[in-house]
Amino acid sequence: MANLNTSLNKSFDIIIVGAGAAGIGISILLQKLNLNYLILEKNTVGSSFKKWPKETKFISPSFTGNFFNAPDLNAITPDTSPAFDLLTEHPTGNEYAHYLEIVSKHFQLNIETNVDVKSILKQNDSFRIETNDKTYSSKYVIWAAGEYQYPKSDSFIGGHLCTHYSEVNSFDDIIGKNSVVIGAYESGFDAAINLVNSGKQVSLLDNFQYLEFIESDSSYSLSPFTRDRLKDVFENIDYNPDTRVTKVEYINAKYQVTTNDGQVITSDDEPINCTGFDTSLKLVEKLFEFEDDYPILTQCDESTKTPNLFLVGPQVRHGTALFCFIYKYRQRFAIVAEELAKRNNLIEEDIEETLNDYKNNNFYLSDLSCCDDECIC
Ligand SMILES: Cc1cc2nc3c(=O)[nH]c(=O)nc-3n(C[C@H](O)[C@H](O)[C@H](O)COP(=O)(O)OP(=O)(O)OC[C@H]3O[C@@H](n4cnc5c(N)ncnc54)[C@H](O)[C@@H]3O)c2cc1C
Repeated sequence: MANLNTSLNKSFDIIIVGAGAAGIGISILLQKLNLNYLILEKNTVGSSFKKWPKETKFISPSFTGNFFNAPDLNAITPDTSPAFDLLTEHPTGNEYAHYLEIVSKHFQLNIETNVDVKSILKQNDSFRIETNDKTYSSKYVIWAAGEYQYPKSDSFIGGHLCTHYSEVNSFDDIIGKNSVVIGAYESGFDAAINLVNSGKQVSLLDNFQYLEFIESDSSYSLSPFTRDRLKDVFENIDYNPDTRVTKVEYINAKYQVTTNDGQVITSDDEPINCTGFDTSLKLVEKLFEFEDDYPILTQCDESTKTPNLFLVGPQVRHGTALFCFIYKYRQRFAIVAEELAKRNNLIEEDIEETLNDYKNNNFYLSDLSCCDDECIC
C-alpha cells in the first residue's frame, strides 16, 4: 500500500510525526481505510513510555470490557486491550510500550524509526518535512509528537538546578534521606509517593490545593489511584498547599528552595521538578494559532492557520475540554481519519463501514458540548 521508494526524497499522502499512543492509534485507522501514510518516529515505538520512571504506573485502570462495548480505558482501538495483553490493571511505562509494539506489529503499520523531524514547511499544496536523515513530502501532516520528551524547566528561577520528573530513571537512584518535590499534580504526587516508598521523607510543594480539589473531570482532579496510594505514605510527606516556588539556588553544597511565602527549604539532593511539560508543538508553532498556550483547532482538529495539518493527542483542547488522557483523545482519531478519507475521495459507504466499530464503542466524539458536564453525585 505505501509508497516505499528508496530515493532521498520520499513522498506520501499523509505523514504522522510520532509513534506514541496517539500516532499509533490514528495510524491503525488510516491503515484500515487503506490510506497512504507513513509514521516518522525519532526513537522507537512508545519511546516516551519507555522513559517513564521505573516505578511509575498508569493511573487510569485497564480492564477488558471490550466485548460489552466498554473498551479498556487505555486501549487505542476498540478491539484491543492492554489489560488483556499485559495482565495488569495499572501498567508501567515499559509495559504499555510493549502493548503499543504488539498492536503496531499486529496491524503491520508503516513506520520509520530513528527519524527525528526537525522542521515542517508548507509549500503550496504540500508539506516539506526535514529530518535528521532524509527530506519527506506529503499532502497532509498529523502531528502526534506528544509532550513527555519536551520537559518544562523554566517555571521558576533555577529550574536547571533541579532534576525534572522526566529525567528520573528510578526513584531508588535518588540518594539522600530528604527530597523536595516541586509541583503537586499527578507527576508530583507520583514522585512523592515513590520517594517515600524508597525510604525518603518528602517536602511536597503544591502551588494550588490539589489534594482538596475535587472535580469529575480527571484532567483537573487527582485520580483515585493516586489518592489510594497516598493513604499509606502520607505521614512521610510534608505537604504544603498554596506554595509556589520562586527560585532554587545552590549555596554551600545545598539546594535552597525559596517559596512565595518566604519559606526556605534546603536539601542535599537536587529538587525534583514536577511542574509539567512543554509541548512538542513548539517545533511547529508557526503553523498554529494559539490561545492560552493551546493550539486553536477546527471541529476536525485541523490547524486554523495551516490547512491539511492535523493534531492528535493530549494537546487537543476544545473549550474547557482537555483531551489529555488516552480514553479522551482516542475519541478524536476517527474524526480526523474520517475527514482525511473524505478529502482522499474514499467511497462514503466504505468509510462508514470502517468507522462503525469506532462509533459503536465510544471511539467517535463529534459532539463536543457533552464534555462540559459535572457528575451529579
Ligand atoms: C507520569 C505520567 C503518567 C500518565 N498516566 C496516564 C494514564 O494513566 N492514563 C492516560 O491516559 N494518560 C496518562 N498520561 C498521559 C499519557 O502518557 C500521554 O497522554 C501520552 O503519552 C501521549 O501520547 P502521545 O502519543 O501524544 O505522546 P508520546 O507518547 O510522547 O509519543 C510521541 C512520540 O513522538 C516522538 N517524537 C517526538 N518528537 C519527535 C520528532 N521531532 N520527530 C519524530 N518523532 C518525535 C517521540 O519519540 C514519541 O515516541 C501520563 C503521563 C505521564 C507523564
